[in-house]
Amino acid sequence: MPKAQETILEIDLKALSHNFDHLKSKLNGNTKFLAVVKAYGYGSDACEIALHLQKLGVDYFAVAYVKEGVALRDAGITAPVLVLHPQPVNFKTLIEHCLEPSLYNAKVLSAFINAAEDANQKDYPVHIKFNTGLNRIGFWENDLDYLHTSLNNVKSVRIKSLFSHMAASEDLNEKDFTLAQIATFKNICDNFSKRFGYLPMLHMCNTSGILNFPEAHLDMVRSGIGLYGFGNSEKESQHLKPIATLKSVISQIHFIEKGETVGYNRAYKSEAFQKTATIPIGHADGIGRQYGNGKGFVTINGKRAAIIGNVCMDMIMVNITNIDCQEGDEVIVFGQQPTAEVFSKTANTISYEIITAISQRIKRVILK
Ligand SMILES: *Cc1c(COP(=O)(O)O)cnc(C)c1O
Repeated sequence: MPKAQETILEIDLKALSHNFDHLKSKLNGNTKFLAVVKAYGYGSDACEIALHLQKLGVDYFAVAYVKEGVALRDAGITAPVLVLHPQPVNFKTLIEHCLEPSLYNAKVLSAFINAAEDANQKDYPVHIKFNTGLNRIGFWENDLDYLHTSLNNVKSVRIKSLFSHMAASEDLNEKDFTLAQIATFKNICDNFSKRFGYLPMLHMCNTSGILNFPEAHLDMVRSGIGLYGFGNSEKESQHLKPIATLKSVISQIHFIEKGETVGYNRAYKSEAFQKTATIPIGHADGIGRQYGNGKGFVTINGKRAAIIGNVCMDMIMVNITNIDCQEGDEVIVFGQQPTAEVFSKTANTISYEIITAISQRIKRVILK
């Protein structure tokens, strides 16, 4: 592929196909696959990702907010779209775009029934979210009677699935906790079935749940990070390919004397004669200030160049004293090597955060 001439995020759809195939190979044939494409497809390009996965036959999509679902519909996504965390103010828009809400508490449930009735809906598909230990959003096990009373005679909506979310599926030290979550969810489903006389689709696994808890695959799994190439462990990540590569270029090279400083607040002071490069990417692009002052690094001609001084809004400066390079040369921030996981660790964070932080200002280049 051609060398970058500005800051770009390359998205490799072949790597996406690979990750999808790998994750699917973990499932039995009856388990459906929901692709999580919230937050711009984990910072990549939700519409391109979803269109590609729709072609590959994915069963379902999920986003966090209604606005994200509307963007998928506008791009031509016809598969069902679950909205994980909708707010009542957007229910009319949600219905107009045939998006399917997660209903997670009494307020949201009654607001949705009203919205569905206002829109003359019959059997509108909804998903009931249960809290089994994450303590984030969801009904509790003891809300089943309330749910039965509130929904049993309601014609405007139809429960399409029951679901829950794991708190620590990537952490095998917390295996007992996850097993308890699975048991609680199964119990909720049994009790639902007793009251309602049927069972809708059931799902609770995220990517690490898919990899670590096959007994919890149930009717569908919801994968985000795995599709984008990260397995939350070295072992699992080996089988996946990061789909996004963040590239930039050297805008300018400086030679600085011992004692000179670099960047805002004069945060870096040179201990010797040095060569620095200025790169057009900064905290407004998603490279937070925590990567500055020697923590983060970029790769130039295969060599590591540490970020020196404070990260600016639109630029970073890196130390290239021992690197043979010129203005205009390509710079890799993360991709296949080093991965976003490695890059994010330099600032004590996780792949999820750095990849979703890459701002919309950066051009996305899709490799088909
Ligand atoms: C974001 C999210 C997922 C995807 O999790 P990954 O760890 O990225 O696979 C699944 N389910 C819910 C409810 C989520 O919020």
